[in-house]
Amino acid sequence: MPDGTMRDDFDNSLRMDRRGFIMRIVAGALVAACPLFAKEAEASSRIIDIRSPKRRTRPRRASTRFIILHTTESVSPGTLDTIARRGTASYVIDQGGKTYRIMSRTQVSIGAGRSMWNGLTNLDNHAINIEVLGYHDRLPSPPQLASLRNLLSSLMRSYGVSSRRVIPHSQVAYGRPNRWHRRSHRGRKRCGMIFATATARKHLGLSSKPGYDPDLRARRLVVADDYLHDVLYGKIGDLEPAVITAQATPAIQESEDEDLAVRTLETGQTVWEYAGDEYAQETTIYLLSDGRIRRGDELLLENFDFQSIPQGTRIAVGYVYGGYVTKERTPYSIVGKNWNNPDTLYITDGKILTGDEVRDEKIPVGTVLLFRR
Ligand SMILES: [Zn+2]
Repeated sequence: MPDGTMRDDFDNSLRMDRRGFIMRIVAGALVAACPLFAKEAEASSRIIDIRSPKRRTRPRRASTRFIILHTTESVSPGTLDTIARRGTASYVIDQGGKTYRIMSRTQVSIGAGRSMWNGLTNLDNHAINIEVLGYHDRLPSPPQLASLRNLLSSLMRSYGVSSRRVIPHSQVAYGRPNRWHRRSHRGRKRCGMIFATATARKHLGLSSKPGYDPDLRARRLVVADDYLHDVLYGKIGDLEPAVITAQATPAIQESEDEDLAVRTLETGQTVWEYAGDEYAQETTIYLLSDGRIRRGDELLLENFDFQSIPQGTRIAVGYVYGGYVTKERTPYSIVGKNWNNPDTLYITDGKILTGDEVRDEKIPVGTVLLFRR
């Protein structure tokens, strides 16, 4: 009936209004009672999207189990652009506290590179990388800390990441045996070190941190930087940032080249100096100066003269020969999710790039892949 209908409509609209009104009161009370709530909502709406060209090609993360914090070690005006161009962070926070989103929410950013936590490697496939414009031994500016706190709280909630899994890059980076360290080691870099200190974590609202390094405990790695280790797990981490800044001594900066297990034979040097007993193994790969790429065992069968090997020959020890990239054989089909692992090598026309350097949108057919098992 028209009347009844009219009354129903009237009642309904009244009820709706009342409910809307109550909702507004509740929301208002929440905002008033909890200024953080309002601030967070405000901050998340203020994320500035900078579309990295890498968004076109990067795959999705396999999972989101970690948030890795970095310091850029440079505050020059070009830093943000460089990060965006290379897709080396998911988010960036500048000195004024502005937050930028570089990759889309679930896409891989290549920020951690060679990394390991509790036996899991190549954490870029499992982590959100946040770059803070600043230095590893200095507390970020108050607006940066506030923005980072807001961003963390919203990401931790969205992905179910606990405080213990919000860790600095230096805590998960590791180095392969090289000129300075005979064993695989923790302490390759100090990136983001300040975010392991009690003061920084308090500012960021992080309630806990890892109590020990699971990869050291399992003897997968050894300590290569005692000072860093004390900041991450010892008493130094509880000191004020000013003391940390004063105490920090420059660590040996290992270049990625030293990590790269490809060495070039120089005059007078023998293969034994590089490859030792492994010189004729199938996991020792020779990049001959004529452009051929051969495994040690193949060269042995060919009666190759290992004694008078030409200078300029490059040798990679401990790699699996993955063969050529073709239209059908993509890097992903050869090495799966390790396509962007820094231990995966791409060789094109004698040039070697690591998985984290490779331009993923364009890996030429004919590129040879080497990878670690
Ligand atoms: Zn870093």
